[in-house]
Amino acid sequence: MPQTQLQWARAGTVTPEMMRVAERENREPSYVREQVANGQAVIPANRTHTSVDPMIIGREFSTKVNANIGNSETTSDMQGELQKLHTAVHYGADTVMDLSTGSDLDAIREMNVEQSPIPVGTVPIYEAVKRAGSPEDITHEALLEVIEKQAEQGVDYMTIHAGVLMEHLPLTDRRTTGIVSRGGSILAQWIEENGMENPLYTQFEAICEIFATHDVTVSLGDGLRPGCLADASDEAQFAELKTLGELTETAWDHGVQVMVEGPGHVPMDQIAENVARQQAVCNGAPFYVLGPLVTDIAPGYDHITSAIGATEAGRAGAAMLCYVTPKEHLGLPDRDDVREGLSAYRIAAHAADVATGLPGARDWDDALSEARYTFDWRRQFELALDPERAQAGHDQTLPEDNYKEARFCSMCGVEFCSMRIDQEAREADGEMDVLETEIDLEESPAAAVNLPPVGTHDTSRIPDSVEINGVTFRPAPESADD
Ligand code: SF4
Repeated sequence: MPQTQLQWARAGTVTPEMMRVAERENREPSYVREQVANGQAVIPANRTHTSVDPMIIGREFSTKVNANIGNSETTSDMQGELQKLHTAVHYGADTVMDLSTGSDLDAIREMNVEQSPIPVGTVPIYEAVKRAGSPEDITHEALLEVIEKQAEQGVDYMTIHAGVLMEHLPLTDRRTTGIVSRGGSILAQWIEENGMENPLYTQFEAICEIFATHDVTVSLGDGLRPGCLADASDEAQFAELKTLGELTETAWDHGVQVMVEGPGHVPMDQIAENVARQQAVCNGAPFYVLGPLVTDIAPGYDHITSAIGATEAGRAGAAMLCYVTPKEHLGLPDRDDVREGLSAYRIAAHAADVATGLPGARDWDDALSEARYTFDWRRQFELALDPERAQAGHDQTLPEDNYKEARFCSMCGVEFCSMRIDQEAREADGEMDVLETEIDLEESPAAAVNLPPVGTHDTSRIPDSVEINGVTFRPAPESADD
């Protein structure tokens, strides 16, 4: 009997998950099934993650955003992690990756899976290192054990850096920043110390068997992604990509859903070419990109440097964008960084959907523009990507209620408000009467996932508190402002 969404789709069955995705994306269920069957899209939904609201990742669907959360050895605890999960869902993450490397790995992962209405991803090599004590001491058996346990816990997708091969490592010798992927550097150390091939590569078929049993989607990690512009599109990156193309076929042969991870740091002019190359080498498997950052000069602003690249990657065909926060390269993100990163990436994903002509994507822009031009301030705030921030910006100088009806704001002032002046001129000419108004977002062909407020996930599905081992944890309040 089929076990994965891919196997069901190939067998011609539209699953309840495909039905839900079709509803959310405003597509025919048969089209969703077709896209999953031919590997062009994935529905990460571990069979035991019962709280997940199914979603789809594929270039023909709305561009998705992942938020990385998780603790490190030095920072964050259960409470902090629950706050980050809550903030990520609240600000519109489509998936979260628990990248914890500190304490309480199992408890945090179980909490995330249990509480999360969106798919949860992990990088199991991190736990394998924690268990072994150092990268070179990881055994094949322990690695498979960790992967199997996480699959049983309900993780929906896992990053597997199986494309880092022994023969690729010399190709990184001349790089400016070497190997910057955590997983990539761990596996490089394992290969060099043990003088053997990457265990994730040699055990890949066994991993696929585990994934097929639980319907875990494999996210083929880019362990050799460039960590700076100087290293972008180099031999090491493309050699690994070629291996990822081969592994994509292997996973498909086992009925496992596949997406492929991509760079990193890439100059703007090379992004479209990188996406096209991945799509060709990996036969259209969804591309899941980290940024990419289009310049290296702005630590503290890398949510912006990378959102610029992510927009271009989404326009060129990337299916999911992994957010980057202002803390990138500097420290562990807190919940405010999660909010900043997600807002930047929701903008990137939406801008990409508008640029690729996703049906109805621009309706949101048109509705907001209409509210702006007609000075319907409350509607403008309501439609804003981050309503709280939009209203706070307005209230900073004009907090009184009567200014919510005003035909100007403090930017130009009443006398110089160009929209007021323009409207008065158009009113005098009778042009305002023929203006088409009232864009009905309810009737928009855009997927619900594209309509405001950001995200489609009901945060009330995350309970107000969670008790783990007799300790009560509470998530963040609705607003990250307070
Ligand atoms: S004052 Fe300027 S910024 Fe404000 S609504 Fe008028 S045109 Fe727009």
